Amino acid sequence: MRCANPSPITDHRSPALALEELDWIPRPKILALRRLGIETAEDLLTHFPRRHEDRTEFPHFPREESDIPVCLCGEVIKTSLRRFGGWKKIFEATLQESQANALSEPIVCRWFNLHYVQKMIMTGQRIVVFGKPRVRGKRICMDHPEFEIIENDDEISIHFRRITPIYPATEGLSQRVLRSMVYRLLSEVTDHSFETLLPRALMNGAMTRAGSIRAIHFPESWEQRDSAREHLVLSEFFAMQMLIASRRTDASIRIGHAHCGSRALLDAFLKSLPFELTRAQQNVIEEIRRDLAAAHPMNRLLQGDVGSGKTVVAIAAMLLVIEAGYQVAFMAPTQILAEQHYDVLRRWLEPLGVRIALRTAARQEQSGPLALFASVTPPNSPCDPQIIVGTHALLYESVSFSNLGLAVIDEQHKFGVAQRARLITREPASDVLVMTATPIPRTLTMTIYGDLDVSTIDEMPRNRGKIVTAVRDASKLPKVLTFLRTQLEARRQLYVIYPLIDESEKLDVKAAAAEYELWRERFHPFRCELLHGRIAPAEKQQIMERFRCGETNALISTTVLEVGVDVPNANVMLIENAERFGLAQLHQLRGRIGRGEHKSYCILLTSAQAKEASTKLAVLERTSNGFEVAEADWELRGPGDLLGTAQSGLPALKIGNLKADAELMRRARAAAMSIFQVDPRLESPENQRFRQLIVEQRGHTFSNVS
Ligand code: ADP
Ligand code: MG
Repeated sequence: MRCANPSPITDHRSPALALEELDWIPRPKILALRRLGIETAEDLLTHFPRRHEDRTEFPHFPREESDIPVCLCGEVIKTSLRRFGGWKKIFEATLQESQANALSEPIVCRWFNLHYVQKMIMTGQRIVVFGKPRVRGKRICMDHPEFEIIENDDEISIHFRRITPIYPATEGLSQRVLRSMVYRLLSEVTDHSFETLLPRALMNGAMTRAGSIRAIHFPESWEQRDSAREHLVLSEFFAMQMLIASRRTDASIRIGHAHCGSRALLDAFLKSLPFELTRAQQNVIEEIRRDLAAAHPMNRLLQGDVGSGKTVVAIAAMLLVIEAGYQVAFMAPTQILAEQHYDVLRRWLEPLGVRIALRTAARQEQSGPLALFASVTPPNSPCDPQIIVGTHALLYESVSFSNLGLAVIDEQHKFGVAQRARLITREPASDVLVMTATPIPRTLTMTIYGDLDVSTIDEMPRNRGKIVTAVRDASKLPKVLTFLRTQLEARRQLYVIYPLIDESEKLDVKAAAAEYELWRERFHPFRCELLHGRIAPAEKQQIMERFRCGETNALISTTVLEVGVDVPNANVMLIENAERFGLAQLHQLRGRIGRGEHKSYCILLTSAQAKEASTKLAVLERTSNGFEVAEADWELRGPGDLLGTAQSGLPALKIGNLKADAELMRRARAAAMSIFQVDPRLESPENQRFRQLIVEQRGHTFSNVS
């Protein structure tokens, strides 16, 4: 017999109720629910199952092993506790099938070192287990199955004989208790307390939010579960995309200026370059030019793999803006990079008469006719710098731009959205170009950078030497050294990255020095220098300069080298303990080589035998395309750490999965965009219901919807 879902009755419980107001939830359970982040009735109803078990009927006990987990029900006929290896314990519970026949075999459930299980399971109980059956000797076993004890038959209709929800649980809150609470709450809330907030384009038949919430917990069929889930995922994605679309619209309807010159300066610059732009670079410059020429503020993300030539594109944008009489801020995440950009800009732009200033904590200077700062000169005076290069401190310090037209932010993933927002809120709005060298999967672009227009450089300059990447066991170091020396003898330069992952990790200066001594001996008579985060900025700068001009042959470095550094003659990189780095970081590091015409080599040294480590490193051997690396990285470890989604200022997802539900995200985004396209301020009556989606998420009313 199939039990009906909890049916809506007329008690007017609102989903916004605090849990305390539900007097049937005992106090200790309220505390346990809090640990799961559940504070209100609504939170409890949107504590979605992480999976469902088919408990409509239980199969006979298996007699073979299988890789597909099964859900079985039986009676505990024996328990035992065995010790092994001193203090370790195995608890075993033997289950007998309820309707045993002559052929049925008991199954042995085993838990290792789980003290609490042994306290819960007793002979005579009926329990449900979920796990993979395995053959162990003559027995069929299930190791560490999930289990649930059937306590009394009254509740059987909630927990069994149906497709049963399994929740993320916590200590002090068992599946049964959680499930019973959700069941009861569902029977107390009315359908009309849930509002269905989906546009028609995303609706699937007559499914409502109320119906979906009931069905996601206690579905009557798998099909029903699936369409409920789809509805809820779409709702979640749609709300997120409405927020993103509103931010985007917010920015684009603000007052801005056209900041675009005639391109005479740009043409002069392009003529002076020793290379031709790639098609991709030209296309992207054209996209940016159109944005600059429009009166509304530009908000554009420039995506391109390491070495694809983003800087030149950024410079092109800057020149257009300068030519129109505005200033440009160029921000890099670190001092080294800011200085490097400053040097590159001076080399390329001073001959064209462009005035450039550097503002970092350590160094302030201005090139050009007069070494003065903008703040002490009248706006637009002939000694005002046209480009101010600095770190993101430029955003915080009271650097007064006399008339900022464009802000370029390099390596955006190091900046938070909040910092970006700071720029966008200046009045009148300047144009903003953010650049990232960390390619990210498309679905993430739609969310994390969803409020930006995206330009992608999907082509590498043609003159690039190939990068060969090889993973080698640490025991092969002598052979690797021989190879490195042949490269040094061919007048190439190289990087050795040593495994201090995070500069904040306590750097043992002695160890670094010892490391350095070792490499000096190994490379003698070639010249080495050591670079790490504790070296003072001015000295770092000199070290980099000596390396850039070829005075130093090898740079022994921590990951301070990570982003942006550009020395074309350096074509070999050795990374020690490569398994300790993330894929994205390794790809970034590797991007430091392969910048000149010589063939390049990236050697990943590892002593880790672990399978995950070799799977990870093999990705880099297989491809040097950053987008492929990003997808693989995502496959391997999920979106969590890829970019710090928290940094994006978007709500955490409760049910949708960015990877598995990418198609639903695309649909939700299209729907949200088209609503804002027609009605950017959400003024029309039929859009009123969507305003709250945005206001709720932003926590306050906002400029274009208020
Ligand atoms: P990234 O995209 O990683 O920031 P850069 O802008 O630093 O890359 O460019 C890497 C190197 O390639 C620089 O030395 C730059 O001068 C050079 N470069 C850029 N565009 C081209 C091109 N079209 N042809 C040849 N070299 C180029
Ligand atoms: Mg760069």
